[in-house]
Amino acid sequence: MDDKLMLMIPGPTPVPEKALLALAKSPIGHRSGDFTKVMADVTDRLKWLHQTKNEVLLLSASGTGAMEAGIINFLSKGDRVLVGENGKFGERWGEVCDAYGINAERIKAEWGKPLDPEDFRAKLEADTNKEIKAVIITHSETSTGVVNDLETINRHVKAHGALIMVDAVTSLGAMNVPIDAWELDVVASGSQKGYMIPPGLGFVAVGPKAWEAYKTADLPKYYLDLGAAKKAIAKNSTPFTTAVNMVMALQVSLQMMQEEGLEQIFARHARHRNATRAAIKAMGLSLFGPDDCASASITAVAPPESAPAEEIRAIMKKQYDIILAGGQSQLAGKIFRIGHLGFVCDRDILTAVSAIESALQQLGHNSFTPGAGTKAAIEVFSA
Ligand SMILES: *Cc1c(COP(=O)(O)O)cnc(C)c1O
Repeated sequence: MDDKLMLMIPGPTPVPEKALLALAKSPIGHRSGDFTKVMADVTDRLKWLHQTKNEVLLLSASGTGAMEAGIINFLSKGDRVLVGENGKFGERWGEVCDAYGINAERIKAEWGKPLDPEDFRAKLEADTNKEIKAVIITHSETSTGVVNDLETINRHVKAHGALIMVDAVTSLGAMNVPIDAWELDVVASGSQKGYMIPPGLGFVAVGPKAWEAYKTADLPKYYLDLGAAKKAIAKNSTPFTTAVNMVMALQVSLQMMQEEGLEQIFARHARHRNATRAAIKAMGLSLFGPDDCASASITAVAPPESAPAEEIRAIMKKQYDIILAGGQSQLAGKIFRIGHLGFVCDRDILTAVSAIESALQQLGHNSFTPGAGTKAAIEVFSA
């Protein structure tokens, strides 16, 4: 039953019908007056979502393109940077730095554990010559479901003076990322996550200190030159043909988000995380990663050998048309991940939880009373 497909992966996420209908319209010219009005409206709403007065630039690229743009526009060849690495995405930003000849020192934590802010403090305090130009952090590490303590790490970065660059791809629109209040210099995200629209757009919020660094940054860039994007956005435009229909869908999804309100959006994601985690515990499964740094958008589960992750995922897909994510890299086959990001309601969580209970029963993992997981989720929802 293809039309019943339910995506519970951390991107792409489900798309509301109103946004799908915007995608189905005939495109309009990207330099037309009508589209300029759409861009002006979208730009304002993006600033609202990002809690910033500064530019939020829009790229026709996935989240990685947005993050690459955020890294290469403000740094120069040979610059020393610190990259937090406790999962697949942290690893990726180190690789982007390597590709451009940036001297990236990895600050690591075990996958499934948060980065230790003290490690950053020590490196930054020792750097009395101010050689470290930037600190690059993945806020919500999607590969493990762990949230890094961005607020504390950022405080150490501020005391030093380096730029802070953040992958907020699965935190923006799900968890509080107050860009201006925390003075975050560069924050990247992508449309197929908290934005509730398909993949195709990337976003980079850029603060004044980063624009200062832009003036002397010497890495090669053309399509991803954010200076060009900044000039264009001042005229409610983009340097190149943007994904016009995606921007129209974005306008719809941002309207929906504003109607719901930021606090309510964050509360909904937190509630879904809490319900999912309570349910997983009640089924006798292990959560991958501790409660006190659990992402509000993604829950990683380490099932026992008797109920392998890939078999659970296969039953979920075949019998229930629910798609869960597997583990990435070293976690392949060891965990499964439940996305509860974006256009997700309480009903979706109950459905997924009860289907997981069924899958576990079929695999012979019956050390829990059927319904115990669903009951635990209901208790969170009725609290
Ligand atoms: C999805 C995701 C990205 C972006 O990946 P793309 O496939 O390029 O969109 C980056 N960082 C995190 C943490 C993500 O979850």
